[in-house]
Order: sequence, then structure tokens, then C-alpha cells
Amino acid sequence: MNAPAPHARSTPLIDPFERRIGYLRVSVTDRCDFRCVYCMAEDMTFLPKADVLTLEELDRLCSAFVRLGVRKLRLTGGEPLVRRNVMGLVRALGRHLGSGALDELTLTTNGSQLAKYAGELAAVGVKRINVSVDTLDSAKFTAITRWGKLDQVLGGIEAATAAGLAVKINTVALKDVNVDEVEAMVRWCGDHGHDMTIIEVMPMGDVGEQRVDQYFPLSMVRAKLARAFTLEETDYRTGGPARYVTVKETGRRLGFITPLTHNFCESCNRVRLTCTGTLYMCLGQEDAADLRAPLRASTDDAPLDEAIRAAIRRKPKGHDFVIDRRHAPRAVPRHMSVTGG
Ligand code: SAM
Repeated sequence: MNAPAPHARSTPLIDPFERRIGYLRVSVTDRCDFRCVYCMAEDMTFLPKADVLTLEELDRLCSAFVRLGVRKLRLTGGEPLVRRNVMGLVRALGRHLGSGALDELTLTTNGSQLAKYAGELAAVGVKRINVSVDTLDSAKFTAITRWGKLDQVLGGIEAATAAGLAVKINTVALKDVNVDEVEAMVRWCGDHGHDMTIIEVMPMGDVGEQRVDQYFPLSMVRAKLARAFTLEETDYRTGGPARYVTVKETGRRLGFITPLTHNFCESCNRVRLTCTGTLYMCLGQEDAADLRAPLRASTDDAPLDEAIRAAIRRKPKGHDFVIDRRHAPRAVPRHMSVTGG
């Protein structure tokens, strides 16, 4: 590790809208062992390996953000747990938990490899993870993920819970696919002790299907759930885009991420790094900063720190996704698996 620049901690990362950037999401690979129909096309072209940062480079880059005041790191993908030796990176980043520089190290996973890694994740200091599950019907699960097996994922969730990790379930609401199931999924989460977040499908990348055919507004999901459960308003916030209620009958939190019907960009505290070292300052905008060049150009961290600061100075106010039949969709061309969901 390079010695921290003495001035680095003194000025936190503040964007032009006075938002303090304390959260970095890192896509450690664009590859995945699933092909969810709303996330990827079936015949995806993946990045050449030479373009992808090594685990050591990812560590150095993440550590630069930590030095500049990032307090929360989330590893995502693609599928983070299919990257070879990813646990080496998790262990390396765990040192920032030990030093107190980082409050939280976590990941978002499809759960397929969790049975193998849950114990080690817990041992490194990971406390909570998000696991994406869109349905509890195995045939439907395989249809949505194209390649996934529900049993394997449920086994992974069980292993994670047994290892002491809190598991939050992420579910994307898909028109005519799983909306009829959300009530049962909220109950299942309650029975198994999981909080849950329901997400609106976002227009990211060409997936070979019309987004209007997938999109289902969460206002309608919420209305449906409000007939089945008592949804109690809460001011619980994670600093993220989800707005939470407590489901009185289960005692668990239920979040709604509604980038289409409402966005909550005004409180956005996050930026996203791809596995090639490209920093996206907004999930829904195309402006990005190349951090791989300053990373590889010098072993001195000062140019890297300056490139990060310069990128944060360009963070836009927010995104403007639109999906409806009257307008051309306002979308971004890259898939969610590139930026990391
Ligand atoms: N493979 C991991 C997983 O399955 O959670 C991490 C990466 S995945 C891209 C992260 C999250 O993004 C998942 O919950 C997935 O359902 C969600 N996602 C992917 N494409 C999306 C889209 N177009 N709109 C909304 N959510 C999406």
C-alpha cells in the first residue's frame, strides 16, 4: 500500500450539490452465472480480461476512496462471487473495517455461490448482504434468470443466515411475471427474518425486450400490499434511494426503490466504479471518469486522488429515466451488470 497523502483526509468528497459522497459501489466483474431477462441479453459480450482491473488494482482504487472519506463499500457485479479469488479482495478490504476507516463492507449477490462463501464473508467482518430473488417459484426463477436454480440460491441464503449475516432480499417487480407473488414473498421474508426491497425495472442496456413490457410501477405494488398488510411509515434511511415501511404483521422492513415514479437523487451519496476503473457519478447518466489511467500511470496516489476529486466535482444532480409508450425511452445504453446495481 502507498502511504496516504497527508492532506487526503482533510477535505471530504463533496459534490456540486453539497452532497457528501460516502458510499462506493464496485462492480468487480461484468460476468455473471445468471442471465436475468431484465438485466442482460442472452448473448452478452463481456469485457476482454486485459481491460479488467486486477484484484490488487481494485484494492488500491477502493482504498483511495476510503482514504478520501468513503465509509461504505459494496461489491457487486455482474456476480461478485464468480470473480476468481474475490475473497482475496474481500479480505484485503476487511482491513479498513479493522482500522475503523470503513463502517461497512457489504455485497449484492445472486446467492448462487453463497453456500461456499458465507462463513468467510462473516469472518472478514461483513454483517449484511443483499441477495436478489425475484420469485419463489422454481420454474419461474429459471425462466427469469435463464440459467439459475432457485434451490441453490435458497441454500445460499440459509448458509448466510446460519453464518450470522443479515440477508435483505431484493426483488425487481416485473409486469405479468412476479407481481402476483409479492404478497407471498413479503410473508416468506417475514417468516425467514429478512428485510426486503422491491425495485422498479430501470431502462439500462438493450436486453432484447421492450422495457414497457417489463415495467410495473411500484405505486401499484404498494397499493396491493397495503390491502394485505399494515404498512407503517418509518423514517429509517440507509442514505440510499429506498423508502422503507415496517410491515406490522411480520415486523420486517420493506423498501421501495422507485427511480421511475419518484427519484430521490437529492440525497444521493454514492458513486459507482466498474471493473475497468470507470467511475460513474450517476447510475442513470453517461458521464464517467477513467480512473484506470491515473491508477496505472503512477505508483504515487496523488494523481489518482485528484482524478477522484475531479470526478466528484462533475456529479450530476440526478437521472431522468422514463418508460412509457408515448415517449422514446430515456435510458442509458450500458447494462446494469456493467455499472453494478
Ligand atoms: N449479481 C448480483 C445480483 O444478482 O444481485 C449483483 C449485480 S445485479 C446487476 C444487482 C441488482 O440489480 C439485482 O438486484 C438485479 O435484480 C438488479 N437489476 C439488474 N438490472 C436491472 C434493471 N434493468 N432494473 C432494475 N434492477 C435491475
